[in-house]
Amino acid sequence: MLAPLILAASRSDKMRAFVSAAPGTKQVVDRFIAGETVDQVIPIVRDATDKGLEVTLDVVGEDITTVEQSHAARDAYLELIGRLKDLGLGAKAEMSVKLSMFGQALEGGHELALANVRPVVEAAAEIGTTVTLDAEDHTTLDSMFAIHEELRKDFPQTGCVIQSYLFRTEDDARRLAAAGSRVRIVKGAYKEPAEVAYQDKAEIDKAYVRITRILMEGDGYPMIGSHDPRLISIAQELARKAGRKLDEYEFQMLYGIRSDEHVRLAAEGHRMRVYTAYGTDWYGYFMRRLAEKPANLLFFARSILTK
Ligand code: FAD
Repeated sequence: MLAPLILAASRSDKMRAFVSAAPGTKQVVDRFIAGETVDQVIPIVRDATDKGLEVTLDVVGEDITTVEQSHAARDAYLELIGRLKDLGLGAKAEMSVKLSMFGQALEGGHELALANVRPVVEAAAEIGTTVTLDAEDHTTLDSMFAIHEELRKDFPQTGCVIQSYLFRTEDDARRLAAAGSRVRIVKGAYKEPAEVAYQDKAEIDKAYVRITRILMEGDGYPMIGSHDPRLISIAQELARKAGRKLDEYEFQMLYGIRSDEHVRLAAEGHRMRVYTAYGTDWYGYFMRRLAEKPANLLFFARSILTK
């Protein structure tokens, strides 16, 4: 019931201003956002890799309104990659990017986003790592998949994300489950209409299993993005049945969520990658985390009221 309201609020400038200014917000934001600057996130990357985890780094931001902001987003990733290179951390850290932050929704946005993301993908390849294109709302996906296909001509390891709540995704999964492709499957975090997406949690979970089966039985590299213990054990079973070795797929979870489970799966020999978001424009990312679990909203409300 609350999730659609929170997701609607995630697009409201008034709510953004209110939430950002509320006392107590920072304490809750810190649970999900690993810092505001590269300097703050680097020790977190080191800590994760010391524990046997890998990371994918997201410089938070989306829905920008000017070309200059899209260039700033590109430059923020280039700065990050430069630092990872200097510190020799490239092999364990990949990047996740949202094309809306690279200008996808602006006029001529498809070309602008491609032009902005290409140097990031190039720089990542130079330090031996790669980039995954996050999935945003359904209206952006044809452009995202076209950019993904274009980038893969020169950088075949570029990954993308598919969302089990969308009706289209089983077809996308079949198309993408080809040799060399890296695909993260998630449930989906946006507010989508009934014309394009399952609304019922059980349907979304069933689709997640069907899509995971397609990816595991295919020739690509599946990345299982979920904290759901049932889906994680089903994915393990599907991988075993498909004859995949432990290094032929990976699990991914978000920074700050089920952290014990990150370490447990890694200790079992699984590749576990922690999606680590940092930066100052955390509002959209933070609101989606609140929408995923009502208890987070209660915690947030309490921290505001007690400040
Ligand atoms: P759920 O059924 O939502 O959660 C299972 C359990 O995990 C819950 O019971 C709870 O214990 C815990 N949990 C889940 N979420 C939270 C939370 N916010 N706070 C506290 N506990 C929680 N979505 C996109 O649309 N596009 C993307 O590109 C994208 N990338 C992602 C990358 C990664 C690595 C992950 C893990 C998720 C990503 N998502 C993305 C979000 C995803 O779509 C879901 O919204 C999110 O993962 C919650 O679904 P779940 O599979 O964890 O299952």
